[in-house]
Amino acid sequence: MSKCKCLLGKSKKLSSRSLQYVDHLLKQLLPGRCDFCLAPSTSSRSWCNACFKTLPWNNHACYQCAEPIPDNTYSLCGHCLKQLPAYDIARVGLRYEGEVALLIQRFKFNADPRAGVLLVDLMHASLQQLFPQELPQALVAVPRHPQRAKEFGFDQAQWLSQQLSKRMGIPCLAARRIRSTPTQRGLDRSARLRNVQDAFVVGVALPPHVAVVDDIMTTGASLEGLAKACRIAGASRVEAWAAARTPLALS
Ligand SMILES: [Zn+2]
Ligand SMILES: [Zn+2]
Repeated sequence: MSKCKCLLGKSKKLSSRSLQYVDHLLKQLLPGRCDFCLAPSTSSRSWCNACFKTLPWNNHACYQCAEPIPDNTYSLCGHCLKQLPAYDIARVGLRYEGEVALLIQRFKFNADPRAGVLLVDLMHASLQQLFPQELPQALVAVPRHPQRAKEFGFDQAQWLSQQLSKRMGIPCLAARRIRSTPTQRGLDRSARLRNVQDAFVVGVALPPHVAVVDDIMTTGASLEGLAKACRIAGASRVEAWAAARTPLALS
């Protein structure tokens, strides 16, 4: 599959902004169309009510780490019952399934700006629904290794974090990956945790309450690794935010 490396790429910010501006103008000219099914919509959002309702919401999930769990079961998953994660709570409104998986793949692998904006819209809406009360004082994205970011054409977690920062009025602070780690794909949970051990550093003093941000949360190992680095940098409460959580069978 050929990858578009320009639309959201750092070196082509103007291109990305221009496309988003055109997209904004089109939405003004053609209001009320759902981004999923293109049906007329009375909603002021980017989706119609029917599509919004049928999205794979992560409603039955572990209270601590947001891992999807079967209905009518414990509020904590098996992993959290054994050992709590390094972050205080995970806030992940959607499961990585169906339309949401397709949307994230368009965003991640094709650098599709419309998919990116829609993903931010959904993430923002789900965060507002889940936890409207006390917002973190800073967002810290899980940093991709520069080589990986180069392969994709942009750093997805950083881009999501920057967009949420603008929407929610929360400053976005940078972390660094201080050593290269093999891909997490195919590794089990404990191997993933070992893989990211001491991989991140936050070079600035953090406020007490922060959120670490990633695009997809699988076992949460990367978010855990960054959460530990945030605590070293001064944070006492760390939330883990992601656009979608992989279902139990894939984690
Ligand atoms: Zn629709
Ligand atoms: Zn859990």
